[in-house]
Amino acid sequence: MVAYVIEHMEPDEPLAPGDTAPGFPHWIALEYAQMLKWASPDLVIFSSLSSASVQSLSDQLIARGAKPGSFRAETKSVLELMKDEGIPLDKVCLLDPRAPGEIAPKDGADYSWFLFGGILGDDPPRDRTGQLRAHGFPGRHLGPVQMTTDTALGVTSLCVSGGKTLSTINFVDHPTISFGPHEGVEMPFRYVVDDKSGEPILPEGMREHLKADMDRSMDDF
Ligand code: SAH
Repeated sequence: MVAYVIEHMEPDEPLAPGDTAPGFPHWIALEYAQMLKWASPDLVIFSSLSSASVQSLSDQLIARGAKPGSFRAETKSVLELMKDEGIPLDKVCLLDPRAPGEIAPKDGADYSWFLFGGILGDDPPRDRTGQLRAHGFPGRHLGPVQMTTDTALGVTSLCVSGGKTLSTINFVDHPTISFGPHEGVEMPFRYVVDDKSGEPILPEGMREHLKADMDRSMDDF
């Protein structure tokens, strides 16, 4: 069994439309909920959360059907957790767009934890993953195009638990999510394509969230 660690790197935000509690924005919770689906049955650890966000994120994940034991929400950083749990640096693989080597099925046997930057909507990319790289973790890339963090976790899991290689996964870059003949929004990331529907795999609830967001900005116009 491997575990996926998301080092949360975004500040808490004030309440926004759709949020039920302070601390953890609704749309980020949608993305974090999707990670549990990709990772299942493996564990997802969310690290470096504020205390308010531990509560708010946990509540939102459980409200979205997360199974007990499928995740942990921690105020400690990944480095503190490694120390507490005796996980050495060379057993933690950082998913890093700038790493020299590509993720491969065998990495599932070589590493205990796969580490991601909990960095949301960073377009154009500002290499905030570099803050984690600075600690000296071994790293793997997932190809040249920036993915959402949940997609990055999904692709890692398809490779290290599902035995796939990157070249056998169907991707779409910068898809436009449309809400009708004249309404849509382009997402500046790479996504996995769902084999059945042919559509990019987005977190459940994200389309509705994007539409509501677009309707609100039209109203402001
Ligand atoms: N813009 C950020 C990356 C955000 S994506 C930056 O500049 O660093 C959030 C996380 O998903 C990254 O920290 C990384 O762990 C993972 N990720 C996204 N796309 C990736 C890719 N192509 N290769 C490896 N990791 C990736």
